[in-house]
Amino acid sequence: MSFAATVLTLYPEMFPGPLGISLSGRALKEGTWSLEARQIRDHATDKHRSVDDTPAGGGAGMVLRADILAAAIDAATLPGDTRPRLLMSPRGKPLTQDRVRELAGGPGAIIICGRFEGIDQRVIDARQLEEVSIGDYILSGGEIAAITVLDAIVRLLPGVMGNQESGETESFETGLLEHPHYTRPAEFEGMTIPEVLTSGNHRKINEWRKAEAERLTRERRPDLWAAHQAKD
Ligand code: SAH
Repeated sequence: MSFAATVLTLYPEMFPGPLGISLSGRALKEGTWSLEARQIRDHATDKHRSVDDTPAGGGAGMVLRADILAAAIDAATLPGDTRPRLLMSPRGKPLTQDRVRELAGGPGAIIICGRFEGIDQRVIDARQLEEVSIGDYILSGGEIAAITVLDAIVRLLPGVMGNQESGETESFETGLLEHPHYTRPAEFEGMTIPEVLTSGNHRKINEWRKAEAERLTRERRPDLWAAHQAKD
């Protein structure tokens, strides 16, 4: 059973986009996951095929209509569909590696991309959409957020990443940021590689990496560091 992604968008031509390239692209071709981008506008009911209207109460911009989006969601939902319905939204819960891993372990996702000022609250409530944010900044639409969420999920699907271990030491997987990396040449603009890394002593190398991961996390992400310490 492969991971089935359905994206609802006003710009289906943005998909697969970057997801059609490299690891995720190969996995898509091999059927490790599937991707369907559906045009929300196909569910418009007037002759102008309009999907948005002015905000109740006044103010700037336009709002995606609840009835049209609900019809698009319902048409994308298969009988017995248990996939979570994610709404890309700056108001949502910030995406974490833990949530990404959960999603990757599930049957797939229906991902709804907002545009304009956002979408009518009633469809969020009526279709129990899970609002997901990819960070504290505003994009012009949910498509790039959806691509981001899917990229993070797909690389965790079985067989997608060649070297499974490289996923397990990655930043956040251990609750810490990752240690620095080095490779050839041995000297670059006068800078050498930390000696321990060329020592061949794997116990020492692991100790160094752990200490560096801890140092970087403490310095750069006091929030992660506090959470890490609270876990021990
Ligand atoms: N008026 C809204 C922003 C709308 S941006 C507000 O102030 O909250 C238009 C669309 O882009 C949103 O509906 C959402 O789907 C998407 N989007 C923008 N920023 C995002 C973010 N940080 N994470 C996820 N989706 C985002």
